[in-house]
Amino acid sequence: MDRRPPHLGTLTGDDRLGAGGSPTALDALLADVRATLPDVRLLTDPADRESYRRDEADHVAGGLPGAVALPGSTADVAGLLRLAGIHGVPVVPRGAGSGLSGGSSGIEGGLTVVLSRMDRILEIDRPNLCVVTQPGILNAALRRAVEAEGLFYAPDPASMDICSIGGNLATNAGGLCCVKYGQTRESVLALEVVLADGTVIRTGGKSVKDVAGYSLTQLFVGSGGTLGIITEATLRLRPLPPPRSTLLAFFPTLDAAGAAVAAIMSGGLAPVTLELLDRGTIAAVEDWHHLGLDVDAEAMLMVESDLPGAAAVEELDAAELACLAAGAGSSMRSRDAQEADWLRNARRLGLRALERIGAVRMEDVGVPRSRIAELLRAIDSIGRRHGVRIATFGHAGDGNLHPNLIFERDDPRADALAEAVRADLYRAALELGGTVTAEHGIGSVRREWLELQRGTEAVRVMRAIKSALDPQGILNPGRIV
Ligand SMILES: Cc1cc2nc3c(=O)[nH]c(=O)nc-3n(C[C@H](O)[C@H](O)[C@H](O)COP(=O)(O)OP(=O)(O)OC[C@H]3O[C@@H](n4cnc5c(N)ncnc54)[C@H](O)[C@@H]3O)c2cc1C
Repeated sequence: MDRRPPHLGTLTGDDRLGAGGSPTALDALLADVRATLPDVRLLTDPADRESYRRDEADHVAGGLPGAVALPGSTADVAGLLRLAGIHGVPVVPRGAGSGLSGGSSGIEGGLTVVLSRMDRILEIDRPNLCVVTQPGILNAALRRAVEAEGLFYAPDPASMDICSIGGNLATNAGGLCCVKYGQTRESVLALEVVLADGTVIRTGGKSVKDVAGYSLTQLFVGSGGTLGIITEATLRLRPLPPPRSTLLAFFPTLDAAGAAVAAIMSGGLAPVTLELLDRGTIAAVEDWHHLGLDVDAEAMLMVESDLPGAAAVEELDAAELACLAAGAGSSMRSRDAQEADWLRNARRLGLRALERIGAVRMEDVGVPRSRIAELLRAIDSIGRRHGVRIATFGHAGDGNLHPNLIFERDDPRADALAEAVRADLYRAALELGGTVTAEHGIGSVRREWLELQRGTEAVRVMRAIKSALDPQGILNPGRIV
């Protein structure tokens, strides 16, 4: 018997509420889960569920999940999705909840499926330079495990200590060294995915070259939990590069820093990190970590090399020349690998440093690298125009900047001002041939901008893919498309 309710496709949590004291769809789902999936842990206590209402985009209200399920296996995930489909309960896949686009925030009355228990590394395959892992493992834990074998997993979001590999895959996360090694997508060989109806498929394989059929692996990467739940991934590894050395260059103007980025990237250099911090971020980081940064500079570039020995010195020499030619007023180098690690960690904590000042809304725009100076100028003038303090840092080598809007913690104008600033930032990025999100994703916070950026026809294709894979609209409804 087909027990699917007829109204799926426009799911909201309210649709799940039963009437007249009859058991709700959610109650029925939970009864079936308890009866048939004994290894799934269920959280139904309101206090427990409350902590799954939001992700790190804490200005997004989110909904209170009706229940939170923690599966222990692919079979559990498949069972949960099959039952959610039968009972018409929307499902929010969730990794570690560090997302910044509202993609894993709760849906009122829905089922949040958290992958954190599925955190085992299944195989480190040295001959094939890959690792097979479950999705719940934290990025930093995976990196440590493969490093112990002399191997390297490249994608390194600044949140690596608090984000899961599954979340990284679902958002196609970027990071500090993606300028050299590419975003998450470029390190994925194969996936195991549970589709909305509970079907388990495997995409890709360990072969580096493989062109059999459509690249479903790439389709699921970046799909934000709207097309399937990733339950296993085969990720590409590299030999562990040497410890890094670091150059910091300080600029009197944003323009000069932008010009240096363009010069480094077009000058045949391949730094492993090319990060930018503006004046506000430098001050916040320095105030917290006391690293001796030049707080009078308008911008700082952090350039890292992971080449061996003399080659690293040569690479940083060339980067330093490019910075000085672009107008850098001063520069400094890390003395050893430990100091390089400190500097990188301080950059990673840029958001937390700004959060010490006030309530921060982090944005995530991107432009072609050659236009980074124009983007910096636009951010600056948008902040001035709206009277909003913006501190910017980001992956300048990728053309990806994070303008951080900073408000007093109890500023009643924050929501309205943030909306106006965001709209101007997105328009500026699009006018420069860029994107409204370079790594955090459309999620639930940028949905209305997708069509503007991609065009009606492209979004129509996305919707067709969504309805082919999830005709009931069970998975993360209301996100992305
Ligand atoms: C301080 C800080 C720094 C950050 N720095 C970076 C950065 O440098 N680069 C960057 O890209 N991001 C960054 N982020 C954002 C965030 O950490 C990333 O988006 C990360 O990939 C999210 O992983 P997560 O496990 O926390 O996912 P969640 O927040 O739990 O989920 C994110 C999305 O993935 C989906 N999802 C999660 N797991 C699965 C799964 N197994 N299958 C299918 N869908 C799934 C969810 O539905 C949601 O749409 C930062 C965040 C913070 C707070």
